[in-house]
Amino acid sequence: MATWNVSALLAEDRKHLLHPLYHPADHAEPHIWVRGSGATLTDASGREYLDGLSCLWNVNAGHGRRELAEAAAEQMAALAFSTNYAGSANVPAIRLARRLTELAYPNLTAVYFTSGGAESNESAFKTARFYWKAKGRPDKVKVISRQFAYHGVTLATMSATGIPGYAKMFEPRVPNFVQTAAPYGYRLDGVKPGETVGMAAARMLEETILREGPETVAAFIAEPVQGAGGIVVPPDDYFPRVREICTKHDVLFIADEVITGFGRTGRMFALERWKVQPDIMAFAKGITSGYLPLGGIMISQPIHQAMLSVPYGDRWMHAYTYSGHPTCCAVALRNLEILDQEDLVERAEKMGSRLLAGLRTLTDLKAVGEVRGLGLMCAVELVADRATKAAFDPAKNVIGRVKAEMEARGLFTRVVRDIILLAPPLVITEAQVDRIVEIVGAAIHAVLPDHA
Ligand code: PMP
Repeated sequence: MATWNVSALLAEDRKHLLHPLYHPADHAEPHIWVRGSGATLTDASGREYLDGLSCLWNVNAGHGRRELAEAAAEQMAALAFSTNYAGSANVPAIRLARRLTELAYPNLTAVYFTSGGAESNESAFKTARFYWKAKGRPDKVKVISRQFAYHGVTLATMSATGIPGYAKMFEPRVPNFVQTAAPYGYRLDGVKPGETVGMAAARMLEETILREGPETVAAFIAEPVQGAGGIVVPPDDYFPRVREICTKHDVLFIADEVITGFGRTGRMFALERWKVQPDIMAFAKGITSGYLPLGGIMISQPIHQAMLSVPYGDRWMHAYTYSGHPTCCAVALRNLEILDQEDLVERAEKMGSRLLAGLRTLTDLKAVGEVRGLGLMCAVELVADRATKAAFDPAKNVIGRVKAEMEARGLFTRVVRDIILLAPPLVITEAQVDRIVEIVGAAIHAVLPDHA
């Protein structure tokens, strides 16, 4: 097994390598990951960790899958890359597009491939505007998104992202991006007496559409379960009502299933649970389990029809070099076979229930304000005071210390505000789920003993 000179590697990293969300304060003691197997990761010092977030919510089929390496090698040896611009195609892209139309919402009839989540959402925004122009309604350009949303960090997707902190240093935002409330039951203000959280958040969306003017709104974008914003699970009545509101006001509903797609929530795609279909779906991450970069959008029949029937001069002039990359598509096809052969979607539902039930036992700890989750997306939200839901004083860095305690016990994951995010690979075992629960409880207890 290779051994590594960790301090020399880190010195070079600090000299030359920039990282996402970069600040040296967050890069004081980085892990250099060198190996993975199933739901575990090993760093260059030889320590093994449970991968609490499937790296970046994407390694659904788990680490160390030789079948995926072989699928890539086989396609690379035959044809690693070719153009997929109109006038060309390749076999894996054609097959994957067909497979996706079999797997996803029945109203979605066509697929455009990108390299990741932000490119997918950009494609969705542009396609929504394209559609309304094709329909003779060129003023429908605005995109409504939600607080706590994460849709990527290109200029347009950053403008749709609703997590504070991502935009300030890059402003101004792109015009015509508007925000509304998320169905964040634990903290949503403005719920009327007798109203459910789902109905309240949906009402706020309708109010936003009416305030902006429906004739100016192209689309509403939502993650079925918000991920990076703190794992916000919608109440069951929310998305059915959102669908009605969007239809009523001729607003396209874009589902950002970049995290929730491909089994994560215990359904192949998350809105299936509520029997709701989007007009456009953005996907990425889990389609290849992260083995190669791939994303895309799927569009409904009417949008597809608009693309097929516009005059040539108005055609859909959208493109990426790597759209329909043959090797990425070949790996995705193999990955989808793995999800199917190993019943990993059902496994996400089962292991997710086990993880959620385990985490709910931690509500004995006074610092645990709320435990929530759907499938293998679970969160533990810590609070300084359960009655007022007050956050901890940021100067005390409670969540940073909890993260460090989790790592010391062998669990690597991400935290946001005072929330522990958990979304391990779908192949996780029962014993590993139970170990995550144990570690999270012990880490909270270690940092906040008088909160027990
Ligand atoms: N949408 C969602 C819901 C995401 O979670 C992410 C990434 N975490 C993105 C979009 C952006 O994807 P990418 O980083 O591949 O651009």
